[in-house]
Amino acid sequence: MTPIHVAKFGGTSMADADAIQACVQVVEQTQNPTLVVVSACAGVTNLLIRLADSQTSVEKQRLFTEIKDKHNGIARATTAAEVCLQQLDELHQQLWQVVDSEIPSSLAERARRRDQIVSFGERCSSLLFSFFWRHHHDDASVVDARSFLQTNDRYGQAEPDFVQTANLCKALGERLQAGEKLVTQGFIGTCPQGYTTTLGRGGSDYSAALFAAALQAERLNIWTDVAGIYTTDPRVCDDARPLQEISFAEAAELATFGAKVLHPKSLKPAIEHGIDVFVGHSRKPQLGGTLVSAKPQQRPSIRAIALRRNQTLLTVNSVDMLHATGFLARLFDILARYDISVDLVTTSEVSIALTLDEEGSQANGQSLLPAAMLEELSAFAKVNIEQGLTLVAVIGNDIGHFGDISPKVLESASPATIRMICQGASRHNLCFLVADDDADNIVKKLHAKL
Ligand code: ADP
Ligand code: ASP
Ligand code: MG
Repeated sequence: MTPIHVAKFGGTSMADADAIQACVQVVEQTQNPTLVVVSACAGVTNLLIRLADSQTSVEKQRLFTEIKDKHNGIARATTAAEVCLQQLDELHQQLWQVVDSEIPSSLAERARRRDQIVSFGERCSSLLFSFFWRHHHDDASVVDARSFLQTNDRYGQAEPDFVQTANLCKALGERLQAGEKLVTQGFIGTCPQGYTTTLGRGGSDYSAALFAAALQAERLNIWTDVAGIYTTDPRVCDDARPLQEISFAEAAELATFGAKVLHPKSLKPAIEHGIDVFVGHSRKPQLGGTLVSAKPQQRPSIRAIALRRNQTLLTVNSVDMLHATGFLARLFDILARYDISVDLVTTSEVSIALTLDEEGSQANGQSLLPAAMLEELSAFAKVNIEQGLTLVAVIGNDIGHFGDISPKVLESASPATIRMICQGASRHNLCFLVADDDADNIVKKLHAKL
């Protein structure tokens, strides 16, 4: 049996007919049976989210038409345009039916409705991909990811049930081995109640990794709009360089600290199942890319810099904390009860500062800072909230064991204020929090120094 590959194409790779044709070319170059996993066409998920939340029929119509026109424009470039447009129209009609329904008042039901609406982005783009693929193989077809990817019902942030997913994927593996050309959707799944779920923004990488693990694939290829993982975000820093290789641990840290090129959860299935991950440019595959693996040839002390914007810093201050026990337990108990996920923590004698994980905390349409939670915290401590912050993280190996990094961080940040700094818990990162407006400049300076 030839080992299976999984090829994932992100939103910009699905942006228009030319981009999709480039993706098909990439898949056609592979000898291995390949499951294709696609994101929604660029911009469509954002439009769908706005559509799900829009209140007026004028706005709904406008957004719906924009989405429909985008998909239909791409469909017209396929050779079987008539059939493609007809199948798209069925999907668009189903979408309109949900959009036209009243927005439920309960948060959970609203989140469920939103997932259902948002799923049409990937459902339409996978259909489009299959029609372009048919230019090479008339039997190329779409398989609905919701028949394979089982999740819980945390709408907007669903967690996969890997055992069930792996079981369901067995038949998929056999079809791929038999030579079928199959494309499926990233980002979406089904919960036990039978409703559509989504894995969180950027979740197609995660879906692709889950499919790769379930299919016991040899390789997961993430095709995107950059030629691999860079030393920092190439959009922020012109000097950023592509990396030929990186370890799983380093890549996981980079992704967790904001390098959008990979979804933070996407590496876990690959690590657990020993699947090499390759990141490359779908329109320029000849540029090569980055291989993420368990054993890169080199493990430099500093590998890359990541930045994550829109951070919320919560400072909780209580004089009761002086020489007291149980304060932290009480604080974290409250956060846990409201399902708030905490990222970084620093403490002093009477106060604690923590950053909140925006994505992880907002399943089922919940707010990041629920009023009832703030009320509970305020009952025993002074609470301060700061927003508009960016977290900058230096990623590498044995960071802190070499004395030369901290002065470079401080020099690069100067004269801006560092609101928080964390080092020591992980051998792979040193991170600090600065104002959003200062972040790009600091990253450029730090990148040059390192
Ligand atoms: P896709 O739609 O293909 O999933 P994303 O926009 O999610 O693509 O991720 C690719 C983007 O990630 C790049 O355009 C780049 O701006 C950003 N990015 C952030 N950090 C890095 C990094 N270290 N290396 C490469 N790209 C990065
Ligand atoms: N379409 C989804 C999003 O925009 C998932 C993805 O692109 O990975 O977040
Ligand atoms: Mg992405």
